[in-house]
Amino acid sequence: MVKNTSRVPGRHALHIPGPTPVPDRILRAIDTPIIDHRGPEFSKLAKRCLDGIKTIFKTTNPVIIYTATGTGAWEGALVNTLSPGDRVLMVETGQFANQWKTMAERLGLKPEFIKTDWRQGLDPNVIETALRADKNKEIKAVCVLHNETSTGALTPIAEVRKAIDAAGHPALLMVDTISSLASADYRHDEWGVDVTVGGSQKGLMLPPGMSFNAVSDKALAVGKTSKMTKSFWAWDDMLNMNKVGYFPYTPATPMLQGLAVAIDMLHEEGLDNVFARHARLAEATRRAIGGWGLENLNKNASQYSPTLTAVMLPDGHNADQFRALALEIFNISYGASFGAYAGKYFRIGHLGDINDTMLMGGLAATEMALQLAGVPIKKGGAQAAMDYLVSAHGGAKKQAAE
Ligand SMILES: *Cc1c(COP(=O)(O)O)cnc(C)c1O
Repeated sequence: MVKNTSRVPGRHALHIPGPTPVPDRILRAIDTPIIDHRGPEFSKLAKRCLDGIKTIFKTTNPVIIYTATGTGAWEGALVNTLSPGDRVLMVETGQFANQWKTMAERLGLKPEFIKTDWRQGLDPNVIETALRADKNKEIKAVCVLHNETSTGALTPIAEVRKAIDAAGHPALLMVDTISSLASADYRHDEWGVDVTVGGSQKGLMLPPGMSFNAVSDKALAVGKTSKMTKSFWAWDDMLNMNKVGYFPYTPATPMLQGLAVAIDMLHEEGLDNVFARHARLAEATRRAIGGWGLENLNKNASQYSPTLTAVMLPDGHNADQFRALALEIFNISYGASFGAYAGKYFRIGHLGDINDTMLMGGLAATEMALQLAGVPIKKGGAQAAMDYLVSAHGGAKKQAAE
């Protein structure tokens, strides 16, 4: 087939694990005239966002809103609480954990990086063991990912909290929720998290470019003695200005307009329903993979991610070539692969503003693309996903007796 057209009809199937498709209602909210960021209308918008975002992190403490991608909020978490040379405990769950560790090193911290099998996720016991071994309590923070986006593994944060408490260790707990916030249950206050890092472009259904630090009283108190160099990321300027409804610099007004609507939408659906929808779509995706006879990169069923699933291809099949073919023929994008498994898997994102119909379009395209790429699969993965979704919605009505 010769491609002689520059037009690609229909919608792009954006099945990467973020950025995620932005709902029309949010696009319209963003597409409005710019308002004065020192005027009264702005302070109302800011208050709506600053109050509303607490309900998403499940905290009664302030949440700092940065005009930056998630990486910026990673930096905000570290530089506001720590001092040069501080030891931090991190676990190598995958590529994103690697990147946060690299940032900690560049900032002059001393990360202790626990190696972990990328196919198993984080075992909270390793944290307890490492903290018990730290007799002089030199480790100042434990930094983990709620959802490791490179592998599709969800860490049980409440158990990480328990591990820290069991070791009787005073280290701060910092959690990256960039690819799980507003998609998987998360409780900043109840789980005793000191700094939670979030981003706009995944479960929150917004464009990239906004990120968050939810903070505990302990993090704020420790922050008073932090000696890391900081200016743009400094919490105190931000918190002082936020109290009166403003920001220390020009905030991304359109993004805040989108955020206010995103928070409304999440509550209109109900957070528990949002989480159940993500769990259902994730299970349907896993049924499809099983139906094709392919493997999930994550072998630990107790830590399956509700927001993305990494699909291993059999030896001899290159996942990057597969993704290119699927994009060309079916206009669908998947996430790439990393580390020792680069080229061996692709990631299906199923988070944000996505429903059963969109997922099934994506899984059907994936089944067709796998066949076109010559990957040896069993047919019927998409059917297995449909069967699961039918059962999840109450099961097929009994056929009338013949
Ligand atoms: C996407 C992501 C990041 C990086 O966020 P950016 O917005 O790209 O800076 C960090 N951590 C996790 C877990 C992510 O999923």
